[in-house]
Amino acid sequence: MIGVMGVSQSRLVIDDGPYIFMEDGGYRVKTIEQNKLKTKHYRTDIPTSYSNLSFPLHLRDSLASVAPAVYRGVSKIAAISDIHGQYDVMIKLFRENGIIDDNLQWNFGDGHLVITGDIFDRGDQVTEILWYVYELEEQARQAGGRVHFLLGNHELMILEGDTRYIHKKYRYTMALTNMLYQELFSPSSVLGQWMRSKPISIKINDIVFVHGGFSNRVLDYGLGLDSLNQVFRQELIDSPLDSIKQDSTLSDLYFEEGPLWFRGYAAESFAEEDADAALQALGCGHVVVGHTSMESIISLYDQKIIFIDSSIKFGKKGEILFWEAGVFKKGDIFGAKSTISE
Ligand code: ZN
Repeated sequence: MIGVMGVSQSRLVIDDGPYIFMEDGGYRVKTIEQNKLKTKHYRTDIPTSYSNLSFPLHLRDSLASVAPAVYRGVSKIAAISDIHGQYDVMIKLFRENGIIDDNLQWNFGDGHLVITGDIFDRGDQVTEILWYVYELEEQARQAGGRVHFLLGNHELMILEGDTRYIHKKYRYTMALTNMLYQELFSPSSVLGQWMRSKPISIKINDIVFVHGGFSNRVLDYGLGLDSLNQVFRQELIDSPLDSIKQDSTLSDLYFEEGPLWFRGYAAESFAEEDADAALQALGCGHVVVGHTSMESIISLYDQKIIFIDSSIKFGKKGEILFWEAGVFKKGDIFGAKSTISE
């Protein structure tokens, strides 16, 4: 929670965390409560309740595992993008649209929920969103559904130590913990390990999901989605930028032409034959992307490309994409569903 005390010496009162590190055969848990750092070590059974989380946290003791990139025969799909620290907007969108119930529990049955990246940066409830998605993932799995968290360029930026866009709250967290922001998400942290298991692109039925999009330069490599996800996990995330820059293939995947940064689908010059070529190369009927903020979810060329970054980042409203029985719809912050315009 964030509160501003006084008018002249506006001072942040922050609660943040938990930041949980695997250490000495147990867990070191760091929380910030009312601007005070608390650090405790637990052998097992860490607490489930935290002042800034409005849901119980159930840590999984198995290591985060890598999920496949391709899913078939899925009955219904929802997708949301670019949440950027806006926990309250995300919860309202999920609740009003039946993804979760009033107790914040999974309510989407065997459906798949896709988050196409950019949970990090801008807003002040990033930690809360990450833990909520972590929790929801297990609830969905138990109901026969899935939550897919795909990495966006802001996840990459945080993992490589680029903190230009973090909310100032997290500078207090850094100061209080005496840690760099990316160290709070190191490979030995629970959230850091969990994020490093995540894909950058998946395909469900005939729909490909990715944060930015696929440039021709990347499509020309002909990588399948599983291989692409593997290259990100093994050769890009946590690799020094200098070594990425020395390799032209890795550079194409990591920087502006890469799937997490590409904005070409939103360019004036992007023609229908470009969309057709991309769909053919990917072997799919639709590509769903975030990254470029729109006022509303919109589509291009008869729903070949669908843009779902609905500007949740402003903290007021947003939309969620639905697919069922071959039909796309969008749901607004009040849960009203409507067709998608071009
Ligand atoms: Zn982005």
